[in-house]
Amino acid sequence: MKLTDIIRHRSVDIDAPLRSSGLTIEPNIPICQTDLPLDWYQDEFRPYAEEYLALPDRTAQTVVPWMDRYVVPALDHFGDSIMLLAHFYMGGEIVSVVEHYGGAIADSYQLALQAVRHPEKSIFVESAVHFMAETITLLAHPHQQVYITNPKSGCTMETLAKEAMVAPVFDQLIDRYGDDLVVICYMNTSGRVKAMAGITGGAVCTSANAPVILRWAKEQNKKVFFIPDRHLGENTAATVGISPHDQFVWPPGWEGARTSIDQLSNQDKLRLDSSQLILWGSYCSVHTVFTVAHIHFWRSQGYEVHVHPECTREVVSLADGHGSTNYLWRVVQDAKPGAKIAIATEGHFVRNAAKLGRKLGVDVRNLADVPGPAGSVGCGCATMSRNDPPHLVGMLDLLRQGRPPAKNLVLAGDMVDESSGARERLDLQSRTEIATYARRALEKMIDLTEASRG
Ligand code: SF4
Repeated sequence: MKLTDIIRHRSVDIDAPLRSSGLTIEPNIPICQTDLPLDWYQDEFRPYAEEYLALPDRTAQTVVPWMDRYVVPALDHFGDSIMLLAHFYMGGEIVSVVEHYGGAIADSYQLALQAVRHPEKSIFVESAVHFMAETITLLAHPHQQVYITNPKSGCTMETLAKEAMVAPVFDQLIDRYGDDLVVICYMNTSGRVKAMAGITGGAVCTSANAPVILRWAKEQNKKVFFIPDRHLGENTAATVGISPHDQFVWPPGWEGARTSIDQLSNQDKLRLDSSQLILWGSYCSVHTVFTVAHIHFWRSQGYEVHVHPECTREVVSLADGHGSTNYLWRVVQDAKPGAKIAIATEGHFVRNAAKLGRKLGVDVRNLADVPGPAGSVGCGCATMSRNDPPHLVGMLDLLRQGRPPAKNLVLAGDMVDESSGARERLDLQSRTEIATYARRALEKMIDLTEASRG
């Protein structure tokens, strides 16, 4: 089946088990690293943003009392029926703020499970990127609703693997390989792309369980189309024993959409046909700044190096350890006092990990923070940082008033333009079918992951 068989009607923009992070809000630390310009806020949020921007500073002593005026009445109003969520990569002190108000912080796998695991909650307010919020929606019970505080919060890797880019390639590969093809897609994809995995009997994966999922596909003797992260695919292939000779990298983004198998050279066609793993070539620009030279520098200073598998193959293969955000957080939480650790992942995460490290007597550095004229090249995820206090405050206050903007309600199959926040929503029939296939791929991931834990 092709995706076009499912998506028949698109609407235009409708505008028209967790553990504590161990972080706390500290006085004098800025709550938000940079202010967003006022015209970046959607209309409904501007009054909150104006108040926030007029505050004398961004310290916790100033910001939290202002937030309390809106957040506390909203939480009182909804009681146990509401749950606040955020991802570890959130910038500034939003992670601490969300926990301060009783919310939960998690990686994308744990976030995805929150609605299904908490049937007593009916409203989820998520401060993270869109694909995470949509994944919660895909697994949610019918009475639950998921809101994202800022619809412009997207993932740049996902923007290179939108449905319109991937679907033409998916259709060609299905035509060529039929049932021999299985799609594995990273959590960092829209529901529409996850549905491609469901259509082929494939699964979603995260950076934590990618080896489990890819090994399962390999055991089926299937040809795998892995979407989207090239580096996670290459690193996972090394773990499960798929050689680089058995991999074919497809160009990402619109170039990928325009690439036709018929136009490939004969040599490339042969390589495509013989490959076990076809990698959609997109990547995370935040995780690909780390280099082997960074590792050599920190090693020479006595630091252990732990990296995320979205880093390049050469960086991952040289590190002392690699794994998901949960893995990296645990490396710090479980380190002995006096340990020295350099981490390669998203900058806000490393800053938060360094803060935790200071409490534990562990020296945590960003792997990209090496001396030199260029300074550090490590950076935070700018799109994720678009969630800030005015967005959280405005979302909760508008919910309490019973007038949440439709743009912030996340439904299965929605496609968001991160530059404008515009949301293309499917009609009910297409949405239901997309959700069914995407959920199937998510449930396959959960089954395989839980089974692997024994
Ligand atoms: S850090 Fe990279 S992969 Fe993660 S949400 Fe940001 S852009 Fe996407």
